[in-house]
Amino acid sequence: MRKKLVAGNWKMNGSLAENAALLAAIKPALAGIEAAVCVPFPYLAQAQAALAGSSIAWGAQNLSDQAKGAYTGEVSASMLRDFACTYVIVGHSERRSLYGESDELVAKKYMAAQAAGLVPILCVGESLAEREAGVTEQVVARQLDAVIAAAGVASLANAVVAYEPVWAIGTGKTASPEQAQAVHAFIRGKVAALDPAVAAGLVIQYGGSVKASNAAELMTQPDIDGGLIGGASLVADEFIAICRAAAN
Ligand code: PEP
Repeated sequence: MRKKLVAGNWKMNGSLAENAALLAAIKPALAGIEAAVCVPFPYLAQAQAALAGSSIAWGAQNLSDQAKGAYTGEVSASMLRDFACTYVIVGHSERRSLYGESDELVAKKYMAAQAAGLVPILCVGESLAEREAGVTEQVVARQLDAVIAAAGVASLANAVVAYEPVWAIGTGKTASPEQAQAVHAFIRGKVAALDPAVAAGLVIQYGGSVKASNAAELMTQPDIDGGLIGGASLVADEFIAICRAAAN
């Protein structure tokens, strides 16, 4: 059976004091449950110190496609490894829409992450206009194809895919379990056409306004293998309940 993995995406939130309280609350509550938090770069050391030896992994929300050098303001994959990160989010819709990250750049970041031994959490998903135009599958296929063309389908054995409909991120509008399941099944089917074994093991998270109150119905869908959680990952009780719903 595939594992379920819930990862928190803290986005650009937190402070040393707030993080300390949040990490202290989730660590004992999630003992034995595999989960992850993707924190802002300056807090990686704090997450590492707080979570080392626990079942909660940590990671970042972005990385450079370059290994080192004159790239002011960028952070490389090996720097993330220095803080023992397991995961890094790549291609989050906020990176794609606010910072102009193309499918090709996302694919380069994905490869840079894997080359350093990080597990990329590859975000894909359509905008509201794309859903309304009936091109959800084409958009998700294009985003996946960019990575598969660059890195090969086998690379997905060391990656997580997060389906995040853009219209559901931070909006309070969640995809219905049926809507989410349909796209998850499409993603798995697309990968299965290339490599059935990789598809069978691929963890596909759902992201978009997941809360404690809607987690269980999403997590019980056959192709939903956990979640990528934004706002609710900043509230200890919410994040704990979502992780427990996925683990059950
Ligand atoms: C996200 O940041 O990836 C996300 C899904 O956010 P939210 O849960 O707040 O919609």
